[in-house]
Order: sequence, then C-alpha cells, then structure tokens
Amino acid sequence: MTLRFRSLGSGSSGNATVIQARDGAQVTHLLVDCGLGIRELHKRLGRAGMLADQVDAIFITHEHADHIGCVRQFALRERIPVYMSHGTYMGMGQPDFEGLLRIACDGMQFTIGAMQVSPFTVPHDAREPLQLTCTDGDGRLGVLTDLGRPSDHVLSQLAGCATLLLECNHDPRMLEASTYPAFLKRRIGGGWGHLANEAAAAIAQALRPSGLRQVVAAHLSEQNNRPDLARAALAQAMERDPLEITVADGANGCEWVVA
Ligand SMILES: [Zn+2]
Ligand SMILES: [Zn+2]
Repeated sequence: MTLRFRSLGSGSSGNATVIQARDGAQVTHLLVDCGLGIRELHKRLGRAGMLADQVDAIFITHEHADHIGCVRQFALRERIPVYMSHGTYMGMGQPDFEGLLRIACDGMQFTIGAMQVSPFTVPHDAREPLQLTCTDGDGRLGVLTDLGRPSDHVLSQLAGCATLLLECNHDPRMLEASTYPAFLKRRIGGGWGHLANEAAAAIAQALRPSGLRQVVAAHLSEQNNRPDLARAALAQAMERDPLEITVADGANGCEWVVA
C-alpha cells in the first residue's frame, strides 16, 4: 500500500492537493480544495499524470475563494461527490450540487476507496473550516493550512501523522514591513488568520515525538514570505538540512511526496 500526495498549487492564488492511496489494483484519489479555474485544474492534473475522471471525491476545507475555485463546475461535470462542512456550504451561499454534496464535520470519519479521512476543526476566520488527516491503514498524512494558531484539538488530531502538509504563511517581520493595510496585517497575523513560519515550526516540533518525520511547507504568502525562510524554520524544527524540506508553490505546487 502506498499513500502519497501532490500539491497542484498552494497559496492565495489557489489551493488544490491530490492525495492518492494505492492498494494493489485499487487506486483512490481525493482532491483537497479546488481553488483553480477549471482549465488550470485540468492542466495541473495532467501534469500530475492524472485525468479528471480519476478523482473519486473532493474535500473543501472552507469557503475562501482560494479554496473553492471551480469546485461546483468540476464536480457536476465529472459527477464527483463533494465533502464540506455545513458552515462551509452556508458560507458558499448554498449552491446546488445536484445530490453530490456530502456534509462533513469534526470527528466524523469517512472512507473513500482505500482511504480513511478524518476532518477536524481549526481556528480560522471562516464559517466552519475543517482540515484533515488521511490514512490507507499504513501511512498517515496530515493537511494543515489556513489556521491562525494551533489549538490543543488540532495537535491531538495530528498526533501519529508521519507526514504533514503545513502552512508557512508569513514571516512576521516581512508582514509588518509590507504595504498591507493595518487591518489586514492584524487579520493575517492574528489567532484566526494564518500561521507564521515560527508557529508552523513549533507545530512540527510538538508533533515529532508522536512520529512526525516529514513536513512539506504550503500556503506561503508571495509578498510576506520567502521559500528559504520557511525552509529554514521547518528544517530547524525537524533537525534536517533545509534542502530536504519541500516547499509547495503557487504555480506548480510540488512533485509527488510519499507520506
Ligand atoms: Zn487559503
Ligand atoms: Zn482561508
């Protein structure tokens, strides 16, 4: 059995990640977030060696535009079930998913092919944001982007993950010095906004005793962060060489990573 994932794009320009579980001949694909235009999504799936009809389910973490993108159009065209929280569905304005909507919530596990998915709530300024862990019974992957701070609940949900796709949104000094208006700086840096590199590093460090061995940096701000800063923070937390830390970028995401 192999569990692996690939970011198709990460950051405020659009988020989408494919998680793949392979169990013998059975291959399952979960698309986490769909924050791209439909042509771009097809292009990036193609770059990952995939066709749209190989996506078995979509999971939407929250209703911010960089996460929903073309989800309705894509799901209806390919007839793919879409999981999201009730709050996210309300936040999207209750679009008609023609029977494909599946309401998810904190603590409710569900199975898609060879994959078990466990969503959990995070502190972020959306209606009912969920992040998730995913396992094929062997590897265990955590996805954690878009949160202002790690709650005890978040840390307990991620305990036991070997691999984590982790938000490294900003460097606090770059954010402070940026041309962003004061209210936006407060929002991003606050407890319901986005994770700074150091906060992400602290999460990685806290999860190491429970088996975390690999972290991929995600959702970097193009204005308020640099890949080398995110890499350095995570490398220190994981006691690795910075060059061993993968960073998912806005235009290309990253290559396949075995979880
Ligand atoms: Zn986002
Ligand atoms: Zn968000």
